Amino acid sequence: MAPVLDLSAHSVRLARPVVSFDQAREIAEEHGTPTLVISRSTVRRNYEAMRAAMPNVELFYAAKSNPAHGILRTLCESGSSCDVCSWGEMKAALAAGFTPDRMIHTHPCKTESNITDCWNAGMRWFVVDCVPELDKMVRWAPEANLILRLAASSQSSLINLSAKFGCATDEAMHILREARRRGLKVKGISFHVGSQCLNPSDYERMLFKTREVWDEAVAEGFELEMLDVGGGFPAPYRRPVMSLESFCHQLDNALVKTFGDLNVRIIAEPGRGISAETMTLITKVLGKNKRGGKMWYFIDDGVYGSFSGKLFDHADFELVTENAIERQHFPCVVAGPTCDSHDIVSEDQELPDLEIGELLLVPTMGSYTNASASPFNGLDVAKIIEVE
Ligand SMILES: *Cc1c(COP(=O)(O)O)cnc(C)c1O
Repeated sequence: MAPVLDLSAHSVRLARPVVSFDQAREIAEEHGTPTLVISRSTVRRNYEAMRAAMPNVELFYAAKSNPAHGILRTLCESGSSCDVCSWGEMKAALAAGFTPDRMIHTHPCKTESNITDCWNAGMRWFVVDCVPELDKMVRWAPEANLILRLAASSQSSLINLSAKFGCATDEAMHILREARRRGLKVKGISFHVGSQCLNPSDYERMLFKTREVWDEAVAEGFELEMLDVGGGFPAPYRRPVMSLESFCHQLDNALVKTFGDLNVRIIAEPGRGISAETMTLITKVLGKNKRGGKMWYFIDDGVYGSFSGKLFDHADFELVTENAIERQHFPCVVAGPTCDSHDIVSEDQELPDLEIGELLLVPTMGSYTNASASPFNGLDVAKIIEVE
């Protein structure tokens, strides 16, 4: 993995709950636990921080990271656009107020109904990354505006999003020519450096490569008008990350360096960078038991629920306890509520001696958490509520 980025030279962000323990107790009283709390002001703050640092970049929030109505609606009110991957996500975006002209569809491998349902509802921009996908577009949405996705080789991202999608840069011209032969309009180029990208220089490297493809395409008469730099913006979990401002500022400089001489529409598809910090989980200790000399705590949410990001997203969530600085900490295991022994939330965080019934807060629970939670074992997924 990554040449580790020295954060000392940058302002950093740390994982912070969006509610206090006093607020959490009131919420738990009213709504029960587990409950995920959306902070609408944090949604707005992250959106506006990105906009301010990259004033020429339009933001299409990646609904995949968290399609909760409270997040989508708040972003819609703030002026954001939306990136969707399916008819289900498009419906969620429509219900939150986004109109189809403020959406793009970025799934490179689509089913027939995914294309036709979205097209019929007004979606006009779709991503492709191979010739067979062009044939689907000819059949189901020949008038669509297409964006060709390139594979990106990221060095610092926690999650590689180019193992499955994106064409090699040396295949790009072939796909563009095949699109032209079929009468399709490719109007943009996109990439995704990978999720939880820790170093903005990954974007710069990819932008230089993209510019080479771009110039070759334009020289052959392709009328490209949109550059899509994808998502990847990082969020703080147990490790701090660069502030959104610094990260986006560096990406903006790279954009000026690589595409500043062209008049192109530039968009980004941030998911985690906007949504992760906006939600905090309130979870309760259900049981405790000393096993093999170590304390085990059982809480009411786990890896089948909101902690699903621990499995699918490699996220390392921090467990926050009340009055932590005044309490002595001990090694322990924290497990989720299902009967599966894989349902372990933490084995390496030291915690105070927790009481049954005590609440824990888990910050940075806004991405790839509720979006991938299941009701396995007959347990309800966490309720979602909003605060200002
Ligand atoms: C998942 C995804 C995103 C969002 O990625 P983040 O790392 O959460 O910012 C954006 N675009 C596409 C095409 C994706 O698949």
